[in-house]
Amino acid sequence: MGVNLDALVQLVHGRRVVALTGAGCSTESGIPDYRGPDTPPRARPPIQHREFVDHAAARQRYWARSVLGWSRFSAAQPNPAHAALAELEQRGVVAGVITQNVDGLHGAAGSRAVVELHGALSRVRCLACSAISTRDALQARLLAANPNWLERARSAQLAPDGDADLPDDLVAGFTVVDCEACGSASGTIMPDVVFFGGSVPRATLDAAWQLFDRAEVLLVIGSSLTVFSGFRFVRRAAERGVPVGILNRGPTRGDPHATVRLDARAGTALPALARALDDPRLP
Ligand SMILES: [Zn+2]
Repeated sequence: MGVNLDALVQLVHGRRVVALTGAGCSTESGIPDYRGPDTPPRARPPIQHREFVDHAAARQRYWARSVLGWSRFSAAQPNPAHAALAELEQRGVVAGVITQNVDGLHGAAGSRAVVELHGALSRVRCLACSAISTRDALQARLLAANPNWLERARSAQLAPDGDADLPDDLVAGFTVVDCEACGSASGTIMPDVVFFGGSVPRATLDAAWQLFDRAEVLLVIGSSLTVFSGFRFVRRAAERGVPVGILNRGPTRGDPHATVRLDARAGTALPALARALDDPRLP
């Protein structure tokens, strides 16, 4: 990564950075991309927003699987990429992070200015009354409503995304709990995230653009920019003449707009970037 890292250092040096992060920033924490577009096709496609909202059976299947993956997902820890971004924010290099990730790991690493474009899996929201509660609290209620669920599902084959593919007859016996705030039945509780086919809430998008406006350089980290919700920032940067650096494994949709491209792991390259920017010999 030598020559390209040097180029990235030159690009970032003396400029206020806004980072745009995707799944590749969290893979070293053991979290794969839950939404799908950035990952290879798998047996069961990611759930669609409309499917979840319109069909009780889809919600039942979602929660039946999600309960199994939650303990592992929620135990994930920030990796050196998250730590480097938090440190660079403290040093005034990074103005903030716009993330496509829903794992909360930027905040856990100490980043303060974070816009979670696709929400957070640690929260759930009622589609009927908009009440927000924690995923942990919901997890406890779901487990209480489905005694021995983890044991009964243990034999199910675990998919690499931390969800599990479960037989239909097992899923049919899963009880989805009601909203505690409004009592709305039939499982109107949804993770507070943007599913595939859903849209980023207005207020979140406004916050992201406000942060973006502070960028003197946009640094894309660990996203192939397949999804428009992230790609739009690169497009706006290109329109405004804001230079774009891309740190990602493999090609991205933003490559034609990139001033510097670095093909490397975020957990290796970001700490190296942070160290290099701290070098007093840097002109
Ligand atoms: Zn409700």
